[in-house]
Order: sequence, then C-alpha cells, then structure tokens
Amino acid sequence: MKKKILALTMAVAMVSSLVACGSSSETSEKTEATNEAAEETSTETVQETDNVATQESAENKGTLVMATNAEFPPYEYHDGSDDQIVGIDAEIAAAIAEKLGYTLEIEDIAFDSVIPEVTSGKADFGMAGMTVTEERKKSVNFSDSYATAVQVVIVTEDSDIASIDDLSGKIIGVQSGTTGDLYATDDFGDENVERYNKGMEAVQALSQGKVDAVIIDNEPAKVFVQETAGLKILESAYAEEEYAIAINLDNTEFLNDVNAALAELKADGTIDNIVSKYITTN
Ligand code: GLN
Repeated sequence: MKKKILALTMAVAMVSSLVACGSSSETSEKTEATNEAAEETSTETVQETDNVATQESAENKGTLVMATNAEFPPYEYHDGSDDQIVGIDAEIAAAIAEKLGYTLEIEDIAFDSVIPEVTSGKADFGMAGMTVTEERKKSVNFSDSYATAVQVVIVTEDSDIASIDDLSGKIIGVQSGTTGDLYATDDFGDENVERYNKGMEAVQALSQGKVDAVIIDNEPAKVFVQETAGLKILESAYAEEEYAIAINLDNTEFLNDVNAALAELKADGTIDNIVSKYITTN
C-alpha cells in the first residue's frame, strides 16, 4: 500500500473550491476498510422537505429519499432552532429534486450505513460529503463531482505535532468508515486509530486528551475547531478529494438525470450560491 501522505502544503481555507466541471474520476486509491458492523448507531430521522414548487408542479413524480449522516457541518447538520437538516448537501439535493420533479425526503443514518442504504434500494441516493473512492465505486455509481475537499489534521494548540510526519506513533481520532479513517489506518496502523461515530466526538476526545490528533475533512474541521477551545488545524493537508452523490449501480437513468440537473445548477450559479451561504472565505 502506497504511503498516502501528500503533504499538500496549501492553505486550508483555499481548498474548498467548487469543481466547475468535475467528473467522478477517482481521487484516491485507498483500499476501504471493512465496514463490518455498518450498524446504525444514530437514531434514524426522516425529514420531508416541503417543496412548494414540486407540489404545485403537475409533474410531481413522488419522493426521492436521500441517505445522509447529518453530523457533518456545513454539508449536513441539524439546525438548532427546529432541528431541520440543513447544509450544502441538503440544499443541493433539494434543488436537484425540484428540478427533476420530486419531493425530497432526508434520512439521517450512520455514515457507514449510507452506501448500504443505497445498494439495498432503501434510499435513492446518498449525499454526505462523500468522497469518491475506487473501493466505493464497486458498490455504487458516483455522480459528477460537486465539490473538492481535503483531509486535514486537527491538533491541540500546544501540540508537538507540527506536520503529518509527526503523527507516527500517535493516537489518531477519526469518524468511523470515512476516508480519514482509511488513510489513518493504512498509514499509521489500526492500533493507532480511535474510531468515533461522529466527527465532533473525535474532536471532543482530542480536546480531552484521549487522542493526539484528528483526521477529518477540512470544512467540518473548521466548524469543529471554532466550536472547541484550544485546537488548531495543521497547515499541511493530508489528501485531496472530490465529493459526489452515490447512486445505485442499477439506476443509470437516475444517474444521468442527476448529472444533468447538477450541470444546470452549476451553470446557473445555484451551487455557488448555496456554497457561499455556508462557507465564507476569509
Ligand atoms: N469525505 C469523507 C468520506 O467520504 C467523510 C464524509 C463524512 O464524514 N460525512 O469518507
């Protein structure tokens, strides 16, 4: 297994740019760890988005079920006030559903369960800040990419970990089943990886000194670090990735519809507008 440390020394703030005309080309050749349990650890909640436009439309084709794990701000998370699931993915999905004439229903399950939900046909698609990987492509088709991301390393402000090389022999916290989990396991060994159900739980473990670092996607990293005192994100990023929508291998017609809708939403600026609502570059 190749060492994955890319040490892309790029500013973390700069890396969340949209892929203007991305494709679902693979961005990682990591081998996926077995998601043995894939047990749903979070209570499943279902959210119906009342889509006025689609309800008025003569052409409402029914409901589209999106599987996600709403613990991943700013892509999908529960909004405090009324516990609605909001975020970039939730809004892009709603825009796609509207364009295709469906009402969107969001199902909040464990991240590990998102792909199984799509392969079993219980969900029409999975959208969860999900990175395109070769291993996942064996189970699902990916739409064209709608965003790029990088895996970053969070440490405590007073940490002696200054670069990715310093992670050797340290305990790394990750969200179970994510690419951060896969990279950390491959590069530093299973015995050095602590897995949590939610990214924020890994970050809390870091601030309590239970782990030495957390590897996670850059945008949630920024949110979690902002919400937790005494933490920082290392300048050197870990691996560059593309996010896309996971769709059942048998449902190529729907894949084409989603790609067509995505292309329009990119072209007319809708996706840019949604992203800039949630991510401010400064
Ligand atoms: N991008 C990461 C992955 O696909 C993490 C996604 C998530 O935690 N929602 O594995």
